[in-house]
Amino acid sequence: MAARSPLVVNTHDLERRPGTMRTLERTVPAPAEMGTTVIGVPEGQDIALDLRLEAVMDGILVTGTATAELAGECVRCLTPVSEPLRVDLSELYLYPGGRRVAEREGDEEAEELPELDGELLDLEPTVRDAVVLALPFQPVCTPDCPGLCAECGVRLAEAEAGHHHEQVDPRWSALAGLLPDPDAPAGQADRDDDAAVGTAADDPAGDVEPR
Ligand SMILES: [Zn+2]
Ligand SMILES: [Zn+2]
Repeated sequence: MAARSPLVVNTHDLERRPGTMRTLERTVPAPAEMGTTVIGVPEGQDIALDLRLEAVMDGILVTGTATAELAGECVRCLTPVSEPLRVDLSELYLYPGGRRVAEREGDEEAEELPELDGELLDLEPTVRDAVVLALPFQPVCTPDCPGLCAECGVRLAEAEAGHHHEQVDPRWSALAGLLPDPDAPAGQADRDDDAAVGTAADDPAGDVEPR
């Protein structure tokens, strides 16, 4: 274990005496891969730890919080999103050899616990697990983000009201081409004539004009 890692804590001062405790306040740079493909704590970004380390019979109990700023993108419209994250941490680190003891005793729960490396305790897996578990599964810029127009890719939240593209049924398109277009100056946005919306082929150009 790299003793220099800012997420590694030396527990020498706790001296294996149950009941001994100390607090640990530390701001560390986020390690790599602290997140999912859509959101997470960017590598190197601050994670503020506010922890309590307490010696207990079998190891050292770490409790407290981790706070960081998440960065990601809206899964609907791809706009960058950032939001604060604060998670509770609680993990028992077994003293060295503790897992073997647990195995011998058939304590399956304890077998899964992290173990101290000598007097060093690595917070990284605990912080990562807590952060990743707390990440929004599908981050959105606003709860009602309408996403992108499937036709032209414009952000619907920024597009004109009623943004849409006329869909001419391909079976009719040949006929539509034969008809004169009585009342549609080409390219007119439907902002002010919503009443006409829905009568397919009235406005074959739709509202694709650039904004
Ligand atoms: Zn969005
Ligand atoms: Zn569109």
